[in-house]
Amino acid sequence: MAKEFWIGDIKSGSYDGEEVELKGWIHRTRGSNKIRFVVVRDSTGTVQCVAKRDSLSEQDFQRISEALIESSVVVRGIVQATDREHGHEIQVTHATVIGPVNPERPFPITESAMVEADGGETEFLLDNRHLYLRTGRMTTMLKIRSSVFGAIHSYFRDRDFIEYQAPNFVSGAVEGGSTLFEVPYFGRKAYLTQSWQLYAEAAMPALERLYTMAPSFRAEKSRTRRHLTEFWHAEMEIAWASNDDVMEHGEGVVRHIANTILEDRESELENLGRDLETIGRFADSDYPRMRYDEAVETLQSKGVEIEWGQDLDYSKEKILTEDFEVPHFLTHYPRIAKPFYHRPDPDDPKYVLCHDLLAPEGYGEIIGGGERTWSEDEILERIGEEDTPTEPYEFYIDIRRYGGVPHGGFGLGVDRVCTWLAGAEHIREAIPFPRDSRRVTP
Ligand code: ATP
Ligand code: MG
Repeated sequence: MAKEFWIGDIKSGSYDGEEVELKGWIHRTRGSNKIRFVVVRDSTGTVQCVAKRDSLSEQDFQRISEALIESSVVVRGIVQATDREHGHEIQVTHATVIGPVNPERPFPITESAMVEADGGETEFLLDNRHLYLRTGRMTTMLKIRSSVFGAIHSYFRDRDFIEYQAPNFVSGAVEGGSTLFEVPYFGRKAYLTQSWQLYAEAAMPALERLYTMAPSFRAEKSRTRRHLTEFWHAEMEIAWASNDDVMEHGEGVVRHIANTILEDRESELENLGRDLETIGRFADSDYPRMRYDEAVETLQSKGVEIEWGQDLDYSKEKILTEDFEVPHFLTHYPRIAKPFYHRPDPDDPKYVLCHDLLAPEGYGEIIGGGERTWSEDEILERIGEEDTPTEPYEFYIDIRRYGGVPHGGFGLGVDRVCTWLAGAEHIREAIPFPRDSRRVTP
């Protein structure tokens, strides 16, 4: 049953005049009782198959004529170059329906169903997500997403980073208690991890350069265009590194992702209406850096109400991105705005050595990172400033008791990067089964 021919390869012209065997699904079908035009889709593209009553057996013609959209088929025929829009056609000699579609339950995602949904299209498509995945836009997104994942792996592996896994059940928060998912754990409470970071720091003295790509979980109550409750988190941690060193890698990996999709996914980007020059700019430019204080001044000069010390939420990030055509870093947030693991700046301990990378075009934060508080005294002082119980962090403090070194890292939201690079409106477009506060099905 192995498949030898892929529809996408037809364009090369090297099959012209040859007989091939297509395996795929019916994308569209129309015609008369003499000739049927059946567009067949596989994961690589679509092609029109022309089935003439007198060119195939009566039974084959009958079955392919009756087969509904999304039936799976095996079609044999001769490849013919045409000057019509689709370029190539198959003159069918044999056709077998493998998995038919019951006429009582036709494929639900149709143009008329969308019209009927009348404003409820989004929910309709989310209810049918398992079927929506095979439509053109989602398939394109999933291919871009795969290239983004591949690019992140290759960036770190080419630089001798070790891929390292942390547990998903944890006992302490990284990103604050309000977004913790609590899970019953044999009569105790555990939480789903919000980040790999604390456990990565434990391996930092063993591996020195490490990274992961794994799901992180955050109970984000409000539904936004940029938050999922389960998202894919690419994180790195590096020993003997400053905030600047970590930013170099953040810039490096994002540029590498942009370069990779330009090389591997040009036609997919064009399908989505993404301008390739724009992606090229993300791939080639240096990313400017701005301190938090400067960002506050900029915002105030634009009439935004903000006080020094406040964290910058999305509404403010969005305004800041208006001044940039490429991603830009915000650094040196006030110490009071950031959790204990951010290292105070020795030059001015009112600030911490941290950074966020904001994507342009109003997309906002895609990376958060920085230098870690690395000495025992400093970590105890920082934890003491917060109302954080030390017990779940004992192991984290212990790491600092045995040869602490300067180190840092970042977390990159992979789904956010896919959303931005694909030019999508909403983060749920960039992940197969999006999870938010209202939806865990299908
Ligand atoms: P935000 O302020 O936008 O909620 P954050 O400051 O909580 O982000 P970090 O804790 O720094 O984010 O996480 C690192 C990266 O993970 C973020 O830059 C973002 O790209 C991604 N991220 C964080 N929360 C989510 C989420 N709920 N859904 C998708 N991606 C997320
Ligand atoms: Mg958050």
